[in-house]
Amino acid sequence: MTLVTGKHFVGGQRSAEGTDSFEASNPATGETLDGRFLEAADSEIDRSLALADESFAALQQAPAETIAGLLDKIADGIEAAGDALLARAHAETALPMPRLTGERARTVGQTRRFAAIVREGSWRQARIDRSDPARTPLPKPDVRTMLHAVGPVVVFGASNFPLAISVAGTDTVSALAARCPVVVKAHPAHPGTCEMLAAVIDQAVRDAGLPAGVFSLLHGRSHRVGAALVTHPKASAVAFTGSLKGGRALADAVAARPQPIPIYAEMGSVNPVFVLPSALEQRGDAIAEGYLQSVNLGVGQFCTNPGLLLAAGGPPLDRFLKAAGEKAAAAPAATMLHDGIRSAYQEGVASIRDTPGVEAVGPARAAAGDANQAACSLFTAPLSLLAEHESLAAENFGPSSIVLRCESPDDMLAFAEQMEGSLTATIHGTEQDLQDHAPLVRLLERKAGRLIFNGFPTGIEVCAAMHHGGPYPATTHSGFTSIGNAAIYRFASPVCYQDFPDSALPAELQNANPLGLMRLVDGQPSSAPLPSAG
Ligand code: NAP
Repeated sequence: MTLVTGKHFVGGQRSAEGTDSFEASNPATGETLDGRFLEAADSEIDRSLALADESFAALQQAPAETIAGLLDKIADGIEAAGDALLARAHAETALPMPRLTGERARTVGQTRRFAAIVREGSWRQARIDRSDPARTPLPKPDVRTMLHAVGPVVVFGASNFPLAISVAGTDTVSALAARCPVVVKAHPAHPGTCEMLAAVIDQAVRDAGLPAGVFSLLHGRSHRVGAALVTHPKASAVAFTGSLKGGRALADAVAARPQPIPIYAEMGSVNPVFVLPSALEQRGDAIAEGYLQSVNLGVGQFCTNPGLLLAAGGPPLDRFLKAAGEKAAAAPAATMLHDGIRSAYQEGVASIRDTPGVEAVGPARAAAGDANQAACSLFTAPLSLLAEHESLAAENFGPSSIVLRCESPDDMLAFAEQMEGSLTATIHGTEQDLQDHAPLVRLLERKAGRLIFNGFPTGIEVCAAMHHGGPYPATTHSGFTSIGNAAIYRFASPVCYQDFPDSALPAELQNANPLGLMRLVDGQPSSAPLPSAG
């Protein structure tokens, strides 16, 4: 069986109408991989979204068990794709097999998590305020609200998570859980992996008995494909994970639509780490160890990579820098996801290194040998240098980080006041420090989506309480998360029914509560059936 053909999936059909094409390559060896991938033609883009729109009604009417079953089938299919899927992802990304094995577990875990959310049903947030015809001076109407799917969602995955944030990743499965059809723009850095995952979803849609338009996958290396998808009149929402440049370009295109739609762009971030004096003095070596591990994890290719660390100058910081420099020098070089990311990283390192006032901590080795390899580069600079060189505070995607020397902890407050939005912010200190530095904590609550105490930002727990987001430029919409249970809320909007007869209400809002949901009834949580009116 041919696993990779280079063709698109347009509503259940393999399609090959375009003429331009591109190939995938192995970033470690430069070897060209199987498959010639076609750029999606305008007709294919249009058909994908038209079929997605046509499938919408059937998707809304399907029993919850059918939607949950679809998600379970996707998870099962990813597991059944076995080592062939991991081998292709490894060849396209150079991510090590153990990492990809762990990422597959996260991918199927989050897919089954959304199946459970669909079966349980309370994500619909049913709220009921019963009527009071006798209220004066005006009678109170019967008002009932619940969440409904928004419509077809266009998904863009990131190169650094070929499984967990790609074709069958968190965006796709949370959109399907909300009953939204999905059109994925395949990532051109791992198109074969994308096609294999699309084959799994395509089969799962058939097996679930749902219309084939529920899912499409389009390849494209030109930005024309992405721009056409997000500006298509039938697209109702966009989920993007990737660079600030890409996310911003797509957000601008969406804003210029005659009818703007929500775009949930999760982008890069600098994830500052604040080390308070007591922690630096008492645990400097251990913090240096954890920090360098976090900086180097996955060759620094994580949106949660700690790009800046702030600490007050003095002997403890000197000792910290010495320990961190030794660890940076000892960190092995490794292959990055593709040559574009490696050259952007090298340029970033050169720009930091050449900034007057910045010093390398240990050897500043951006690159090492061939095979798209990158090495850890650690720098230090006085915090005051940021005033002249703002670019030092921007994400440099890869294993580099800058230790900013502060005159006093108050400098950290000044930094936090002007820092851009970030996915995370980390504080190292004692419990008492959190009280003593409460103004810093309060400021960071406005600047980052996740605050970490005595830990490091890389590694995201997929769970109900996770919030993976943050103020712009971390995302385009700080009120939502792309990871964890609440990711579903990006793809649902409330609809309010006023004075509707019970028989015409969705089951979630009917008096008998046939689904047994926990609902908010007259302001109180309740799963009890309500007496029928009259
Ligand atoms: P990317 O280059 O922005 O690519 C993401 C996707 O967007 C690709 O399909 C890409 O296609 C498309 N794209 C990019 N620019 C576009 C444009 N102007 N118009 C239309 N489509 C466009 O990002 P990446 O290299 O995959 O990932 C690395 C970045 O993602 C890092 O900055 C990292 O921090 C961030 N990231 C964020 C998160 C998060 O959850 N916040 C998670 C992982 C990664 P083309 O390649 O064809 O341009």
